[in-house]
Amino acid sequence: MAAPRPLIAGNWKMFGLGGAVDEARQVAAALLVKPAKARVAICAPSTLVERLARAVEGSSLIVGGQDIHAEPSGAYTGDISAEMLADAGAKMVILAHSERRSVYGETDAVAAAKAKAALRAGLEPIVCVGETLAERQAGRTLEVICGQVKGSLPQELAGRAFALAYEPVWAIGTGLTPTLAQIEEAHVALRQAMVDALGEAGRAAPILYGGSVKPDNAAEILQVRDVGGALVGGASLKAEDFLKIVRAAG
Ligand code: PEP
Repeated sequence: MAAPRPLIAGNWKMFGLGGAVDEARQVAAALLVKPAKARVAICAPSTLVERLARAVEGSSLIVGGQDIHAEPSGAYTGDISAEMLADAGAKMVILAHSERRSVYGETDAVAAAKAKAALRAGLEPIVCVGETLAERQAGRTLEVICGQVKGSLPQELAGRAFALAYEPVWAIGTGLTPTLAQIEEAHVALRQAMVDALGEAGRAAPILYGGSVKPDNAAEILQVRDVGGALVGGASLKAEDFLKIVRAAG
């Protein structure tokens, strides 16, 4: 099976007021002038999704969200559904980011339910997994992340567009990154876990690396075996930095 097209996705987290739309506009314009080898997405706060979608219409830049509720509608004050996100113009959604897992107690079962909800609404999910520093130091990295794959990827993903993101919790927003060998070890194990979970369909989805990807380390990370793109937090907020990472993918 041919390698899936790489995906470079920005995670704006809870950053960005109206003025941030300009950054997305700049990324979209640059992609129009010079198309990227990778697919490129910005996953914005819900309040900006519709504005971003309008601003980048006609370009290849994909607009996504960062979370959804698993139900299509209901009495869930403060939440938004997959259908609402799609209705606002999103095509993609990050699920089970480590900040959702650690701050909001999201389990693998919740991640799997949200992944099904994303598919229901036609959104492409990016499902995140990653070990904590304590788990890595205890030598449990592969057991933890492969277990997360098993619990978080529902069968319904087979044959559908989705991505997995490997994000070591200790590397997110810290400036620390695993060695290239550690990234490779994790991605190779994750690929096998995806095949175990979904059969041959587990080879079709890219595995993104996330955790302190910057313009100066993107190229070396992106050439590691089984790294199929990047999930980028801080460095996605400025178009100039994000575009350098996009270009590092070719
Ligand atoms: C993230 O938010 O998913 C992330 C990887 O953040 P950063 O790139 O800032 O470490």
